Amino acid sequence: MKLRIGLGYDLHRLVERRRLVLGGLSIPGPRGLAGHSDADVLVHAVIDALLGAAGEGDIGKLFPDTDPAFKNARSIDLLAVVMKNLRLKGMKVLHVDTVVVAEKPAVGPLVAGMKKILCPILGVSRDGLGIKGKTNEGIGVIGKGKAIACWAVALVREIPRRQKKRPQNPPVGRFRGPSAD
Ligand code: MG
Repeated sequence: MKLRIGLGYDLHRLVERRRLVLGGLSIPGPRGLAGHSDADVLVHAVIDALLGAAGEGDIGKLFPDTDPAFKNARSIDLLAVVMKNLRLKGMKVLHVDTVVVAEKPAVGPLVAGMKKILCPILGVSRDGLGIKGKTNEGIGVIGKGKAIACWAVALVREIPRRQKKRPQNPPVGRFRGPSAD
């Protein structure tokens, strides 16, 4: 068994007249995150952590923001695609931990709802996903409420594929039966 670790980070700007989607939850409010997809910064960071662990590049490589197919895409659907790819590679998620850096909304009260959505997709129990909220103490673009960022790490187990049995070499030339000697 091989353990693999991945790190993810993302940041999106907060803008007017956008729905705020965070950790798969739709959160009512005047502003939301700008982006090609639903801009769920938490899920994007988790996807990058998983892709990093799997050695599969990053979210932009897999779901380019120039591709109209991903316009307003639900990030949890993209996460489900990533999980399917990981399973096909014989990988299982053991643990994911995240830190959301946001002045608003307060993340704590949202954690249970986010876990309810994300844990089944990741295939982990409730304690297999950490979601922690931090403010930026009023400093910088995050502190001024202009953006939300997220960090994520993922620990993944790689299950070695069963070695396929090689077919026996067919006898070459005349089959030699039991010796008559
Ligand atoms: Mg993003």
